[in-house]
Amino acid sequence: MKIIMLGAPGAGKGTQAKMLAERYGIPHISTGDIFRANIKNNTELGKKAKSYMDAGELVPDELVVDLVVDRIKNKDCMKGFILDGFPRTIPQAEALDYALNNQNEKIDYAINIDVPDAAIVERMSGRRACVGCGATYHVVYNPTKEEGICDACGEKLILRDDDKPETVQKRLDVYHEQTKPLIAHYEKKDSLLTVDGTQDIEVVFAKITEVLDR
Ligand code: ADP
Ligand code: ADP
Ligand code: ZN
Repeated sequence: MKIIMLGAPGAGKGTQAKMLAERYGIPHISTGDIFRANIKNNTELGKKAKSYMDAGELVPDELVVDLVVDRIKNKDCMKGFILDGFPRTIPQAEALDYALNNQNEKIDYAINIDVPDAAIVERMSGRRACVGCGATYHVVYNPTKEEGICDACGEKLILRDDDKPETVQKRLDVYHEQTKPLIAHYEKKDSLLTVDGTQDIEVVFAKITEVLDR
């Protein structure tokens, strides 16, 4: 099953993608996590990506497309994959379609998690991300057992710099301008599944799996 996650920053893409990856036994590939790991390891890619991410802007397409196209050729993607945070622009979506098409494959589901902007700022200010494994939590909606410590790996949690309200507004603007057109793109291809992302995490998950399990 080949899945992509769509939705505004903070809509719950990563949260659902992790749960779906576990249920269907396919890898969760987050381009944001890949960039953050590169920044942490001070790689060339990390150095190039950092200034865009700090500003709440998108990293240029040419820095992300080949990376993802190569990644999904890995053996662990034989049964499928969940892309979280990619594609984010029409050219990225077209490059992905082209790469899959060459192998007679296609995206089965583009899952669009719909959350209004008004709810996003609150989500982001309460989001806590694990520096070790990238898991995300929320201080109110999805707290860890021990405050500030990742349930999954025991590492420390942080508030991402780009989750501060000033940057969140910029990221929302970028989302509306560059990423939202992907909803129509996948609707045309008949692979769109939109769910109301304001419901509880478990309810959103149940609505998605109800369709995917058919
Ligand atoms: P969120 O989970 O809030 O949607 P991500 O972790 O997916 O955020 O992404 C963080 C940042 O990484 C983005 O604001 C952007 O700068 C960069 N980024 C991630 N994926 C892409 C992509 N596919 N194209 C361009 N930039 C990206
Ligand atoms: P994205 O990957 O789309 O940026 P995340 O999955 O990281 O979003 O979720 C953003 C924040 O909102 C996190 O703090 C997460 O715990 C929380 N969250 C995710 N889904 C829900 C939900 N359905 N209701 C309330 N909070 C949620
Ligand atoms: Zn962790």
